[in-house]
Amino acid sequence: MLSHHTTDCIVIGGGVIGLAVARALRRDGLRVTLFERNTQPGGEASWAAAGMLAPQAEADAPGVLFSLCAASRALYPAFADELRAETGIDIELRTEGTLLLAFTDEEVQHLVEKRAWQTGAGLRAEPLTPFEAREREPRLSETIRGALHLPDDWQVDNRRLTQALVASTFRAGVDIHCDAGDIQPIIEKGRIRGVTALGKTWHAPLVVNAAGSWAARMSPELLRLPPASVRPIHGQMLSLHMQPPDLLRHVVRSARAYLVPRRDGRLIVGATVEDVGFTKQVTAGGVARLLAGTIEAVPLLADMPLGETWNGLRPLAEDDLPILGETDVTGLFCATGHYRNGILLTPITATLMADLVANRTPSLDPLPFSPLRFSKDMNQAHS
Ligand SMILES: Cc1cc2nc3c(=O)[nH]c(=O)nc-3n(C[C@H](O)[C@H](O)[C@H](O)COP(=O)(O)OP(=O)(O)OC[C@H]3O[C@@H](n4cnc5c(N)ncnc54)[C@H](O)[C@@H]3O)c2cc1C
Repeated sequence: MLSHHTTDCIVIGGGVIGLAVARALRRDGLRVTLFERNTQPGGEASWAAAGMLAPQAEADAPGVLFSLCAASRALYPAFADELRAETGIDIELRTEGTLLLAFTDEEVQHLVEKRAWQTGAGLRAEPLTPFEAREREPRLSETIRGALHLPDDWQVDNRRLTQALVASTFRAGVDIHCDAGDIQPIIEKGRIRGVTALGKTWHAPLVVNAAGSWAARMSPELLRLPPASVRPIHGQMLSLHMQPPDLLRHVVRSARAYLVPRRDGRLIVGATVEDVGFTKQVTAGGVARLLAGTIEAVPLLADMPLGETWNGLRPLAEDDLPILGETDVTGLFCATGHYRNGILLTPITATLMADLVANRTPSLDPLPFSPLRFSKDMNQAHS
């Protein structure tokens, strides 16, 4: 016979999203149990990311996703302070901003258009001549044709963020179980009652699916998402050692690579964008493309030592929007589909999910992100 546990909420997935949601629910006074499939939390996309907090660099137009991203960026300074106070871990929020580079007429035009809609929306986006850009970052290539400074697009060290969230949730008393194995739902009369996992029954009136790229891969009964609603988009990354360690201070982005300088002298270089299923491998071609983009932007980096290479899977929803909210099973929630912006969206996701669970009115309209937008497909897929 299975042994029984009772808790208030179960979170499935220990990336930044699951951890931050667990932390927010715990702060609301709920008893939270988190299941992670791997031997430790935070080892997938959350570890692989570059840590850019870049709503303006990422967006080509205003819209609900841009508003969500911008709202999350605004939460970051307080979020970083709280995590440091709780855990002693500095997530290294850097606010020097981002420089977008243009090398062709078309890329110059793209920056002109981006600046127009962003300044029109009251955001800061400062055009720079090549000379002015090199005044900010003297090592930039002499072949750039123009640049845009986005002073409010920042960065954090996402690996430190993951460590801080693990420490914070652990100290707050979230019950974390790794090597979780198969998780099966217990649903009665359209309402979640808990799950079976690790050979036990876990009773809970609330379950949150935060399983990243794997969110729609588990039992469809548990997840209430059609299989194609979330899929992985592979990204390859590498690092260089800057000499001197402050060779770059801004995040530097071109159409072919982004460069993210860390305080310890590492330069994070990303990323490929590959729709290749769950295959994860660093390839010669991927690394060659990233290095070509790097050296194009900052030729001196050709002389710098290589550090690591790695990769990860970004969870992409069918319609490019995150999936946040309650499913058609009462008490069963989803928090996934954050694609390229999951580090940025961590604090707003946690706040929004905690508000929805507690029936508080969220600061932003959650409707565009509701999992219910997939309900029709779900019923068709499983009929
Ligand atoms: C190369 C790359 C660069 C990126 N750069 C940035 C960036 O600069 N800025 C930014 O904001 N975002 C960036 N992202 C996106 C960001 O990393 C993701 O959106 C974010 O990490 C998603 O977090 P998550 O917790 O949903 O997913 P994950 O971190 O993948 O976590 C999901 C967790 O669920 C677990 N899991 C899966 N199935 C189960 C199961 N059955 N039971 C229990 N646990 C399970 C997994 O093991 C994993 O630990 C990048 C991503 C990649 C890959």
